[in-house]
Amino acid sequence: MATESFPNYRGDLHYNCLGCGAKLAIDELYYTCPECGSVFILQDDNFESLKKTSGEEWRKIFDERASTKNDKLRGIFRFYELFAPVIEEEDILYLGEGNTPIVSSSPALNEVTGVKTAFKNDGQNPSASFKDRGMACAFSYLNALVRKNKWDQVLTVCASTGDTSAAAALYASYLGGPVKSVVLLPQGKVTPQQLAQPLGSGATVLEIPGVFDDCMKVVEHLADNYRVALLNSKNAWRILGQESYAFEVAQWYDWDLKDKCVFVPIGNAGNITAIMAGFLKMYDLGIIETLPRIFGVQSEHADPVYRYYAVDDPKERNFEPVAVRPSVAQAAMIGNPVSFPRVKYFAERYEAISGKQGFQVVHVREQDIIEGMLLANSKGHIACTQGGECFAGLLQARKLGLIADHEAAILDSTAHQLKFIGFQNMYYENEFPEEYEITPDSSRGNKPELVIEPEVKTSSTPAEYTTKAAEKVVKMLGLEKK
Ligand SMILES: *Cc1c(COP(=O)(O)O)cnc(C)c1O
Ligand SMILES: [Zn+2]
Repeated sequence: MATESFPNYRGDLHYNCLGCGAKLAIDELYYTCPECGSVFILQDDNFESLKKTSGEEWRKIFDERASTKNDKLRGIFRFYELFAPVIEEEDILYLGEGNTPIVSSSPALNEVTGVKTAFKNDGQNPSASFKDRGMACAFSYLNALVRKNKWDQVLTVCASTGDTSAAAALYASYLGGPVKSVVLLPQGKVTPQQLAQPLGSGATVLEIPGVFDDCMKVVEHLADNYRVALLNSKNAWRILGQESYAFEVAQWYDWDLKDKCVFVPIGNAGNITAIMAGFLKMYDLGIIETLPRIFGVQSEHADPVYRYYAVDDPKERNFEPVAVRPSVAQAAMIGNPVSFPRVKYFAERYEAISGKQGFQVVHVREQDIIEGMLLANSKGHIACTQGGECFAGLLQARKLGLIADHEAAILDSTAHQLKFIGFQNMYYENEFPEEYEITPDSSRGNKPELVIEPEVKTSSTPAEYTTKAAEKVVKMLGLEKK
């Protein structure tokens, strides 16, 4: 198919405050409501007009667009009409985000879960986490603001558990010009890989002793009092971009999500918000006929959302932030998720359609998270610790009898395995500090073995050295001659 022409439809987007209902125009970047301080969602007042196109027609449009060679429509903007139909073609950034593969789990892993299981490898995004989906949208919007307002300087800031800053720094450095990136990280609480990413992108990297929640407070102080563009997931544009995960899941399964269970780790709760919002939009337009079930997963060491929903009677529920403890699912180690009001908002809509089974939250032990990741990866996958958390969540949901044999699970591996590889080493080397509450099973360890002493290399000719090393390998592996 030739280059797809850009869609004509334009939405009428507004910031809608979930606290007081205030409605604000999108010609400015808001993070929180100036009236009441609550969070926004972006809503399209023309959305109803999309219903003039049937669900079947929409499916056809998106399926045709899947083969486009137009950079502006190749990534998350394939689903343009559904989430940000106000951004003009010239402002869209494409760095290769979206369209991450859904990989069916290997037979050995399916045996463990007892249901059809698959990972959606969101670590195969450009900065190796799903955060790129939201940044592609937020930076495209920012790009439009810069162009329209002819700004000569924009300072973007974010607090991060590691991946938000990697993504923000990447997109900011691609855009360049007036756009500069500053990231605030909890000192010592991001992996070396995650620290290297914004440094390599040329961002200003500021470390704050404490945890993510401390960084977030500083960033909010900056956003309230100074001219900066906040890129945390309070920024509703990021939520919009992250809806693409839901659209892609639906499209991959030919828009049939009956008996599908989608597992999502919850940290700041932006991702699960976006995924529910995306599925609800498709349902509303008749693009999908069934909502998949959503399972949020949290570690026992950072589980405020689990605790909230663990109370059965909605009237008795009361949201309390928790003090987090160290977690291998470090990117989700958040005690006071900023998007909690959004989760509540969409979960209510979700439950109204699918009942209580539609949206559930489970919590899992640290031991099960790390062992979930190690098991998956030893069976051919590339799951990060948060992907391991989803895997553990699936096992937990099975144990609790929440998922029947005929259902299928899609696990969000939100980042690439390699970003969190230090935790694998800590397990293999039995180096977890006590607070993690992880006791490695030494039979699962794996270590490199030295074949030959380095001195042999200096005392041998190159040919002798090859022979000697090869002989050692033969012995170590017990090889037989052919
Ligand atoms: C940010 C992040 C999460 C948590 O997502 P939220 O939107 O904050 O709930 C989970 N996993 C990874 C790898 C992340 O980067
Ligand atoms: Zn408000």
